[in-house]
Amino acid sequence: MIPVVALVGRPNVGKSTLFNRFTRTRDALVANFPGLTRDRQYGSAEYGEYQFIVIDTGGITGDEQGIDSKMAEQSLQAIEEADVVMFIVDAREGVTAADQMLAEHLRRNSKPAYVVANKTDGIDADSAIAEFYSLALGPVYKIAAAHGRGINGLLQETLSPL
Ligand code: GDP
Ligand code: MG
Repeated sequence: MIPVVALVGRPNVGKSTLFNRFTRTRDALVANFPGLTRDRQYGSAEYGEYQFIVIDTGGITGDEQGIDSKMAEQSLQAIEEADVVMFIVDAREGVTAADQMLAEHLRRNSKPAYVVANKTDGIDADSAIAEFYSLALGPVYKIAAAHGRGINGLLQETLSPL
């Protein structure tokens, strides 16, 4: 079976940028405003000898009403469908209430989940990501999806145990 990787996290953290990196497409719309992807989007991807399916989601805001609740539902559904979850956070914004809410859900879920701090370009990444250890989901992976940085190490860590 080809493993399924779900990308979840708040809107605007870079999930779609990462999806496009993984699939080597521009299928996912990337925007500098939150909430563009409302439905789950599936793509196929390869890394070395590994093949995987990646699911992009709209994002969880922690303040779900109307269209936002649909997005949250999609995220929870993607987590159910996945073999491994990449929980994307924004290294520049730090831990938010929505991050804590999603972390709690992932800690209760037995599925492997990795915290991935994106947008670490042009900042002091190590000090920026330190606070994400408080999400209590293990190591925090540093990436810059827009620049392709940290992607190979992340894929190696997440795909090799599957
Ligand atoms: P999504 O809502 O989580 O899917 O986020 P998007 O992929 O649409 O990206 C949101 C914004 O963050 C866009 O303006 C991206 O260009 C920007 N972005 C994504 N990755 C990076 C990154 O590695 N570094 C920086 N500085 N910006 C990024
Ligand atoms: Mg998106």
